[in-house]
Amino acid sequence: MNVTLLIPLVFGWIAGLFINYVSDVLPLTRRFSQPVCAHCQAPFAWTAYLMLRTCQTCGTARSLRTWLVQVLTTAAFTYFWLFPSERLGIPLTMLVLIYFSIITVIDLEHRLILHPTSLAGVALGLIVGTFIYSKKYTLLGSLGQSLLGGLIGFGIMFLLYQLGTLVARYRARRMQAAGQAGDEEEALGGGDVYLAGVLGLMLGPAIVSALAYGILLGGLVSFIFIVALLLRRRYSSDALMTFIPYGPYFIIGAFYLLFILK
Ligand SMILES: [Zn+2]
Repeated sequence: MNVTLLIPLVFGWIAGLFINYVSDVLPLTRRFSQPVCAHCQAPFAWTAYLMLRTCQTCGTARSLRTWLVQVLTTAAFTYFWLFPSERLGIPLTMLVLIYFSIITVIDLEHRLILHPTSLAGVALGLIVGTFIYSKKYTLLGSLGQSLLGGLIGFGIMFLLYQLGTLVARYRARRMQAAGQAGDEEEALGGGDVYLAGVLGLMLGPAIVSALAYGILLGGLVSFIFIVALLLRRRYSSDALMTFIPYGPYFIIGAFYLLFILK
């Protein structure tokens, strides 16, 4: 085995620990606080936490997600070390991988895209977007492309979000008229608007394709989900309006454009 492979293996494992840590504490405390057991909320000693030990108070083992993130991040780091993305180079690739993983894990577990992660994304997005376009444009020109992409991504999703809010309000009124209590379902989370802006900063005007891929993929998965419900006769008209967490689908679209597309 090539010894230099130890570099992505070690850094990938450490990055996995960081992704797990941020995903564990940020949704709960909104800051870099001391980690606690997911089951009994007892504080974790740092070394025990970083060694992925079981909780000493209640004996609950660490979550499946924790292990999945460790293995997948290490694998992804190794892969992109061996086959680096031409667009980003190795360091930015690793940073974007970490960022995408944190957003995805928190969105899947909490259906939330947090403002602190969006803010960090703005900084990372500007760097990534400017770097990508600097091969074709001047520094100022590439910064402009990045900003333009951010504006397009934010703008498109902002309009869709407004449209979704209108539909949700109309539906709530219909439900009230029918004597049912209205619910607070949103077809599209507000955090997705910020995420689209951040991905736009990274991709520039190509964000349009990433959003299109994301919406198509999200729609396709929802369609399969509804068909599955229909087949099991569990379908109700409410299933149509259940929240679709578009975040992870946008991430997949952006991932494809940044790392896979030649
Ligand atoms: Zn515990």
